[in-house]
Amino acid sequence: MAVDLSPTPDVAELVERTTAFVRDVVIPLEERHGGVARTEDVRTELQRAAKDAGVFAPHVSHEYGGHGLDMRGRAAVFEAAGYSLFGPLALNIAAPDEGNMHLLEAIATDQQKERYLRPLATGEVRSCFAMTEPAPGAGSDPNALTTVAEREEGGWRINGHKWFITGADGAAYAICMARTSGTDAGKAGATMFLVDADNPGMRLVRHIDTLDESLYGGHLEVLFEDCRVPDDAVLGEVDEGFRYAQVRLGPARMTHCMRWLGIARRSQDIAVARAADREAFGSRLGELGMVQQMIADNEIDIAASRGLITQACWELDQGRSAAQSTAVAKTFCAEAIWRVVDRSLQICGSLGVSGDVLLSRFLREVRPFRIYDGPSETHRWSIARRVLRRHDTEVRR
Ligand SMILES: Cc1cc2nc3c(=O)[nH]c(=O)nc-3n(C[C@H](O)[C@H](O)[C@H](O)COP(=O)(O)OP(=O)(O)OC[C@H]3O[C@@H](n4cnc5c(N)ncnc54)[C@H](O)[C@@H]3O)c2cc1C
Repeated sequence: MAVDLSPTPDVAELVERTTAFVRDVVIPLEERHGGVARTEDVRTELQRAAKDAGVFAPHVSHEYGGHGLDMRGRAAVFEAAGYSLFGPLALNIAAPDEGNMHLLEAIATDQQKERYLRPLATGEVRSCFAMTEPAPGAGSDPNALTTVAEREEGGWRINGHKWFITGADGAAYAICMARTSGTDAGKAGATMFLVDADNPGMRLVRHIDTLDESLYGGHLEVLFEDCRVPDDAVLGEVDEGFRYAQVRLGPARMTHCMRWLGIARRSQDIAVARAADREAFGSRLGELGMVQQMIADNEIDIAASRGLITQACWELDQGRSAAQSTAVAKTFCAEAIWRVVDRSLQICGSLGVSGDVLLSRFLREVRPFRIYDGPSETHRWSIARRVLRRHDTEVRR
């Protein structure tokens, strides 16, 4: 049976417009800033231009001013936007805001949506997601969560230490994950809280110096010290935080893959242009077998990544948890995208390492993707466990 994977006409049209917008408006600005947006002026300029081009907020529902794309629609548009490091920021689909919008649409109350989702969806404010903690707290293992929220008259008091909280500097609020019951070793008992950034109990400690720089707002260490929040700051139900984290993380894993796939494609285009142009040993680089092999391997990694993203997105669109397919796609894409950027840089030789093309910036930006949203090893561990469980179930039948 033939399978039609082509996007709907609406999505195809949005992809075309996004591609033109990224090429004509976003890339010139990205190149002028070396791929790192450091000021609100740049963010505002990009988002205003995206609104004018009619490509802003493709993932948000119509009610909140977006295009209401499903996951498969997002896959095509996010890849087109991800062709530039500035594309996701322009379309308001960058991490962590994009994942937070998805979560808020799924579980926030109507009042919370008006107060937190609407201004986020329009780009008026930014947000952050505060889960990870320095050792011995939560990292790959969320059950090690040490941040605690205790009930008190009229609300909750949160105490805890977070780090690597992307975008915390300048965010209007954080979605903070805290333990509300259970023990450190137990699975139950985490709750998500909406904490306004002007809460005197939430303190930004420092910007962490990292390999990557392009995720807007940097990565911060954050303290919650006797941070008091009212009852209506609870996002969803008390003690259901780990379940909601899956609502956010499955799709967020895929949207990271989509955006970084755009950068892989851009890297390949830069490398192919160089290979077609540069001469060595009496021929063009592209006529040398080992260069051809790198170009072909890039093409294979890009195509395979896109295929796995499509499969996982299709499952998510069916309302399935897609735990296995998102883990498979995330692991493969994070490693394949790294390989593509690395090979592309190799093809460009010293030019690739220079700041004259953005390949060395891309390499720094994609490396941490093998760690966040679950390190490759953690995903392989959970993929294998699911396979073994399936085997055990089949044997018992
Ligand atoms: C650039 C960047 C941005 C981030 N942004 C955010 C954010 O906005 N909000 C947030 O809450 N967090 C954020 N994080 C944190 C990220 O989610 C964590 O880094 C990730 O969950 C891994 O946790 P950890 O760093 O504590 O690694 P650890 O848990 O200490 O793991 C270290 C290593 O142990 C190995 N390992 C782990 N589990 C297994 C296993 N089961 N089997 C075998 N080996 C294993 C892996 O090699 C892993 O890399 C960000 C991280 C980075 C790098």
